[in-house]
Amino acid sequence: MKKNDIIITYGTHISKMVRMVLDKAELALSIPKNARIGIKPNLVVAKTHDSGATTSPLMVEALIQYLQEHGFYDIIILEGSWIGDDTKRAFSISGIEKVAEKYKVPLLDTKDDTYCKIQAGPIEMEISKTALDLDFIITMPVLKGHCQTKITGALKNFKGCLSDKEKRHFHTLGLHRPIAYLNTVLHPGFILMDGLCGDLDFEEGGNPVPMNRIVAGLDPVLIDSYVASAMGYEPDEIDYIKMAAELGVGSMDLEHANLMVLEKDTCPVKTIRSRKVQALAKAVTEKNACSACYANLIQALARLEERGLLSYYKKHPVCIGQTFRDQSGNSLGIGSCTCRFIHSVPGCPPATADILKGLLTGLNTK
Ligand code: SF4
Repeated sequence: MKKNDIIITYGTHISKMVRMVLDKAELALSIPKNARIGIKPNLVVAKTHDSGATTSPLMVEALIQYLQEHGFYDIIILEGSWIGDDTKRAFSISGIEKVAEKYKVPLLDTKDDTYCKIQAGPIEMEISKTALDLDFIITMPVLKGHCQTKITGALKNFKGCLSDKEKRHFHTLGLHRPIAYLNTVLHPGFILMDGLCGDLDFEEGGNPVPMNRIVAGLDPVLIDSYVASAMGYEPDEIDYIKMAAELGVGSMDLEHANLMVLEKDTCPVKTIRSRKVQALAKAVTEKNACSACYANLIQALARLEERGLLSYYKKHPVCIGQTFRDQSGNSLGIGSCTCRFIHSVPGCPPATADILKGLLTGLNTK
């Protein structure tokens, strides 16, 4: 796998999806023999995966199965939840504790670890000694929003390897700069991102949006640039992505990324429980849309709402879904299923950035 590769697959059959992605990436070939491997999920809070906050235990299980089948047994799962939560509770409630027991993989609450003071550029940081001593880290962030940094993905996932004191320090420094510098010290050997069900705008969940995708790569800057774009932001709107790129951690150049889509999403939209997402959905007429397509539209609508521009579409909803195939229409259509509409955003599924562009153009021409 090359540094500018991004592998994406859509669907709901999680273990099959993980296996496809790992086989495509030929992960086993890039791990040194006898390596001590760390799996770093995102368990920022003690919640289940469907809250939109934490990494799916089924993804962790499929990864461990793959590693053990390829002869890698020196594995540890490590995480330190945010200051307000107990990591051990998070291991248990997320279901990852059961997976760890089943495959005899030890769990480490980094809050119990010893820390090394490491100079990362101008910032001295307390980082978990275990994390620093690993030969190969597989980071498993969740594709989701964040109330301060707009998004959270691979770069920010290493925050769980800090002491609680250091997490506080990061907040006093405004998060972006220290996150960028942290990534000059800790480097993922592989990024296996859970894009199955992330939160629209909070890292602790509450407004989950099923996005039905798994994303993998080697470059945390590139993967986070993809996350930004999937959530309707330009990568350079996220300061820590820009700073990490400037520090040489990776590349923001999505245009020259080698995007490999293994399987498309064909799963119908699930009922959305979050009130916020339901409010956004008032701007949509949905008929048999695929989940990933619908999720991209919801993300674009959320960005539109942030700019105070959603009201027009609440009166003139956009159309999305396979029922619109072969139909014509005057509303804005989303995706190739609406290609006979007068105005339609192409793609199957269309990218969030393109949907946002289409929504903004629709407002300018109304
Ligand atoms: S364009 Fe149609 S078929 Fe393609 S992802 Fe969207 S709803 Fe599904």
